[in-house]
Amino acid sequence: MYFDSHAHYNDERFNGDRETLLPALYEQHQVTCIMNVGYDLESSRQAVMLARKYPFVYASAGIHPHDAESIQEGDYACIEELLREDKVKAIGETGLDYHYDNSPRQLQKQAFDNHLRLAEKWNMPVIIHERDATWDVLDLLKTYHGEGVFHCFSGSVETAKQVLDMGLYLSFAGPVTFKNARRQQETAAYVPKDRFLIETDCPYMAPEPFRGRRNDSSFVYLMAEKIARLKGISKEEAAALSMANAKRLFRIE
Ligand SMILES: [Zn+2]
Repeated sequence: MYFDSHAHYNDERFNGDRETLLPALYEQHQVTCIMNVGYDLESSRQAVMLARKYPFVYASAGIHPHDAESIQEGDYACIEELLREDKVKAIGETGLDYHYDNSPRQLQKQAFDNHLRLAEKWNMPVIIHERDATWDVLDLLKTYHGEGVFHCFSGSVETAKQVLDMGLYLSFAGPVTFKNARRQQETAAYVPKDRFLIETDCPYMAPEPFRGRRNDSSFVYLMAEKIARLKGISKEEAAALSMANAKRLFRIE
C-alpha cells in the first residue's frame, strides 16, 4: 500500500477522468492515501472538496511561490478558513523558486515566511517547494519551529543533513528514478528510514520509464522500488516506511 504524499488532482489535466481515476487508484493500484496539495486559493478549495468526497484523499492549503506576487490582503484569512476543515493536514505548497522567478524574490520570501507563521499558529506541517533557492529557504527556516517536508527533494547529502537536523522530512519524486540523477540517488540512499516520503507530484514529473507522460499516483510504486534498491530493502518495506512516515508527519490515524 502506498501514500502519495504530493499530488495535484485539482489540476485541469485531470478534468476528463478525475472521477474514475481516483477510485481506481485506491481499488486497483494500492494507493490508499493521497495528499492533494493546493497551490493557490482556488486549487486549495478544490483540494478540500476532493478530500470531502474521497475518504483516502487529504488536502493542504497554500499559495505557490510562483504566485507570491498576486497574493491579496485577505488571502491568508481564506487559507485559515480552509485549515479549519478536518481533512486539511498541511500548509502549502509554499517556499522559494529562483529557477523560474515568476514572482519577485522579496515577495516570495515574504509569502514563505507568512506560511511558516501560519504553520506555527495552527500547529500543522508545511509542504516546501524549493528550486535553486536552497540557501534562502534554509535561512528562513532558521526562524521556524514546526514540522514539514521538502517535496521533490533534489539536494545533496550535505543539504539533506541540514534539513534533517531541523527535524524536517524529505520527499522523493520522479527525478530519483532518472538515470543521470546521481545526487538524488545518493541522498535517497542516505536519508534515515524514518524520515523519507514518496510522491508523484502528478500531473508533473512522471518517473522512468514514463517520462513525458501525464503522471498519476499509479506510478508511485516506482519511487518505492527505486528507493528500496538504493537502500537495500524490499519494495514492500520502502512502501510501509514511507506510509508510516507520511502518516506521522500529517497526523493521520
Ligand atoms: Zn506540487
